Amino acid sequence: METLGVDLGTTNTVAAVGRQVLALGATRSVMPSVVAFLPNGTVHTGAVARRRRAIDVKNTIYSSKRIMGRLWDETETQEFRERYPFDMVEREGAPAFVTRAGEFKPKDVAAILLSTIHERVAAMASKLEIVITVPSGFSERQRFATLEAAGKARFANASLIEEPVSAARAYQGQLGRLERLGVYDLGGGTFDFAVLDCSGDEPRVLRSSSDMFLGGDDIDATITEWVATEVLKRHNWDLTNYPEVRDRLLHECERAKIRLSKWERVNLDLSRVDPELQSSASGEEPITLHREVLDELADKLVRRTFVTCDRVLREIGLQPDQLDAILLAGGSTHLPMVKRGVEAYFGKPGRDDLEPTEVVALGASRAPR
Ligand code: ADP
Ligand code: MG
Repeated sequence: METLGVDLGTTNTVAAVGRQVLALGATRSVMPSVVAFLPNGTVHTGAVARRRRAIDVKNTIYSSKRIMGRLWDETETQEFRERYPFDMVEREGAPAFVTRAGEFKPKDVAAILLSTIHERVAAMASKLEIVITVPSGFSERQRFATLEAAGKARFANASLIEEPVSAARAYQGQLGRLERLGVYDLGGGTFDFAVLDCSGDEPRVLRSSSDMFLGGDDIDATITEWVATEVLKRHNWDLTNYPEVRDRLLHECERAKIRLSKWERVNLDLSRVDPELQSSASGEEPITLHREVLDELADKLVRRTFVTCDRVLREIGLQPDQLDAILLAGGSTHLPMVKRGVEAYFGKPGRDDLEPTEVVALGASRAPR
């Protein structure tokens, strides 16, 4: 029986069967972990849902993994309520989102995302074993909520694997003999670092730690502030005054950031943010984002990841250069700045032979049960 591996991420969901990553969007392997409830009753997931965030934020649920399987009273839930714009209520001690389509607990949102994958694999679904990845730090209750979501999405008998173990599995047979492995995972909203013992048959987490509020989103927010300040200087226009406009700008800045992993500089097309602002076709000087500016903006965030790495390594009495290899996972490890930081800290380059956004899902699709 083949295995379907699902990386149900805070920002993005990725699925793989065997060594093949499934296309979940029109062309992309990555599906934003977003569910939108439209006024006409339609429920959208993924990129289409993500685009509704700017215009209908209370009915467009994202980042809900942060509080899946958590109680209402937990600090994380209360912090989430402060940071995110949703309407929430307490139900049976747990948080639920209030939307126009009714109330949804975070595990219900996860179930909708998993249902999209169920539809994608369609006829194959009954012939697949499903393995879902969870952060090493997930509690029993969070793990159970993940399994409940799978059940609700008609994936019976799902099993779980920890994200760094999954990344290590994806590389198994490819790195030679390794004792100790580091998995450096910088996603959209969280940073996770784990040290694994790979001397046995199955990789085992020795120690892991997370920074719950550190990731690509922070970089997007910083770029957004920078661009908004430029626009304010040039046009006397404050784009951050209107949540919808700010969200569109944020999206545009994320695209620019991603393009900057490849190019030295990119021009922002702000006509998409506000039609009154320049488009690339007009004669006006466009706002250009240079790689160096991004590096500067991202520097503080990248440094912060090593605070978490320091802690993990200290707890197990190892120096950074004592790890045999570092695996890169998470979309934000594409940033050249991150790659450089990793190499300087660990004394060797991070491995990205396997696409970092896909490596966790890939490993899960190779997991034994
Ligand atoms: P998660 O595991 O948190 O669900 P991902 O691993 O998919 O998320 O990472 C998502 C983050 O990676 C987003 O902030 C996105 O902007 C960022 N990202 C994706 N591709 C790139 C790239 N080429 N360069 C820089 N950042 C990227
Ligand atoms: Mg992830």
